[in-house]
Amino acid sequence: MSFATTYNQIIAAVNKIDPIAYAKTRNYTNGAVTLLSPYLSRGVISTRMVAESLYQKGYKTYQIEKLLQELAWRDYYQQVWLALNNQIFEDIKQPQQDCSHYEIPAALLNASTGINAIDNAITDFYETGYLHNHVRMYIASIACNMGKAHWLTPSRWMYYYLLDGDLASNSLSWQWVAGTFSAKKYYCNQQNINNYCHTNQTNTFLDFSYDQLVLNDTPPVLAIQNTFNAITNLPHTPLPTINNQLPVLLYNSYNLDPNWRKEAHCNRILLLEPSHFKQYPVSNTVIAFIVALSKNIPGIQVYCGEVEDLASLGALQFISRRHPAFTHYPGTKDAPLSLFPAVTGYYNSFFSYWKKCEKYLTPTGFKE
Ligand SMILES: Cc1cc2nc3c(=O)[nH]c(=O)nc-3n(C[C@H](O)[C@H](O)[C@H](O)COP(=O)(O)OP(=O)(O)OC[C@H]3O[C@@H](n4cnc5c(N)ncnc54)[C@H](O)[C@@H]3O)c2cc1C
Repeated sequence: MSFATTYNQIIAAVNKIDPIAYAKTRNYTNGAVTLLSPYLSRGVISTRMVAESLYQKGYKTYQIEKLLQELAWRDYYQQVWLALNNQIFEDIKQPQQDCSHYEIPAALLNASTGINAIDNAITDFYETGYLHNHVRMYIASIACNMGKAHWLTPSRWMYYYLLDGDLASNSLSWQWVAGTFSAKKYYCNQQNINNYCHTNQTNTFLDFSYDQLVLNDTPPVLAIQNTFNAITNLPHTPLPTINNQLPVLLYNSYNLDPNWRKEAHCNRILLLEPSHFKQYPVSNTVIAFIVALSKNIPGIQVYCGEVEDLASLGALQFISRRHPAFTHYPGTKDAPLSLFPAVTGYYNSFFSYWKKCEKYLTPTGFKE
């Protein structure tokens, strides 16, 4: 599996979505998932744009509702991030129960848990930068609920390698599995994994009924822990050339939209700030992917430096898209794109958020 980076290829992938097969098969590792998360997370396309393209093809709301809900999960997590800011990196609803350390089981790092579907998926993950949603849930459950690791370190490990790494979807999904942003922990057993990953394994540390599994001690294979210390290698880039008569449009790892203010006469800069990547490291593959996606934006210059450096290079006016990771940008901030722009703020659960969103749907599209 590899992820194309040209805009035409990305739009072709949007046009290939089969929302009906999606609803039936999305939980299986070979199901008809969209594989669009690397483009949605990086802001190349938006959740609203995906939904509108389905409506334009004539699909009705009842046919695409499952996919709309999944897209809305993404937006929901963004809203939680906007509302709670850095609190999303701490246990939100309650402290993680039965947590015994702040590292990561070495068996996950080394893809040697003994659960074949998981070990194969992690080996592929290091190559592709992608994991199926169910596999992410299984890994998080193995790390936090079987291995009793606090969710933060393993979430940082996964984020490091994900092409679609998104601090909100990532941290909050890990918290959902670990029971700190949900009512209870999520457990998976071997039978569930065999079913959705098409394996046939038995006699593993997960091969128990759920009643028994929650009572079991940490299996020896998960008892060895490692730290996860990662760094980001940013490329060396020349100083950008700035026409100080024109505003600077700031792009970043979460906004690579070629259609954003497309007609405007501006300086366009992909800003990769060392301070951001020091706090939230990502792999070389992720950086290369971000830079490749930026090539869809005509005239863009890539600059690895801080936003303040641009002011000293003569930039006078800045425009960006509002985003919780980049609140320190000066200047004008355009509204972020989402499926339901009118539904904002903190909702205690996804379903209370979705109930509000549903009011903005008709049988054939969005209510204006
Ligand atoms: C532990 C864990 C960590 C995760 N980390 C990330 C992350 O860093 N970045 C990220 O984008 N997603 C993350 N997710 C959510 C989800 O796994 C991925 O968005 C999804 O698997 C991407 O594949 P896809 O595009 O084929 O999804 P599809 O099933 O085709 O879904 C379509 C789109 O809906 C959104 N979506 C679907 N499921 C979810 C979900 N559960 N939560 C939020 N959005 C969803 C995504 O934008 C996705 O591209 C995480 C989930 C878990 C359990």
